[in-house]
Amino acid sequence: MNVFYDLHLHSCLSPCADDDMTPGNLCGMAKLAGLQAIALTDHNTCGNVRVFCSYAKRLGLVGVPGMELTTREEIHVVCLFPSCEDAERFGDYAYGKLPDIPNNTEVFGNQILTGIEDEPRGVEPRLLFGAADIGIYEVAPLVQAYNGVAFPAHIDRGAFSLLAILGLYDPSLGFSFTERPGVGLPHIENSDAHWLGGIPDAANCLNIPALTAQGVIDGLKAL
Ligand SMILES: [Zn+2]
Ligand SMILES: [Zn+2]
Repeated sequence: MNVFYDLHLHSCLSPCADDDMTPGNLCGMAKLAGLQAIALTDHNTCGNVRVFCSYAKRLGLVGVPGMELTTREEIHVVCLFPSCEDAERFGDYAYGKLPDIPNNTEVFGNQILTGIEDEPRGVEPRLLFGAADIGIYEVAPLVQAYNGVAFPAHIDRGAFSLLAILGLYDPSLGFSFTERPGVGLPHIENSDAHWLGGIPDAANCLNIPALTAQGVIDGLKAL
């Protein structure tokens, strides 16, 4: 079945996202926008995915737990998982590869962890905007080992993108699709919204075999 999707969205846990981008607000806005399958992809963390998936389910949306990983080369790669357990295990791994630099909220913004009622339950002390010590060539097979799928984010952007950093696409990187066109692979389109008003009305469809996070991953793999 075809569903309207947006698989690259940030919550208030990303330092650069608005504080009112709570998982509950994010899911509510996605529902209003007519989306049916959405993914939470905070920078280098899966800390809010469980609350996000809970709200998505309450609203009848397919919630996909994920992360936007910053590789050693400072390339952003979106990683999606079939379950919160897989996402959190990968999150723990990536967290261990992040430099232990404290967040400076004055410079980078707040990193708010939310509870099951969408309330603030704490802050992430480590700066999430750094680069994890995971190389771009490691990502695709690594994420697959956690049952997920990965794709290079906003490849045509001038910073933090595969083409900006590497200058070309090497097929041995192992990705089967990208966000935005440009390297001859199938591509998808996402908003990368960091604020509630940045979630556009539903426009892009994906054919998925089941209305689950696994179904979304299977649909992406079949592109
Ligand atoms: Zn990015
Ligand atoms: Zn992003």
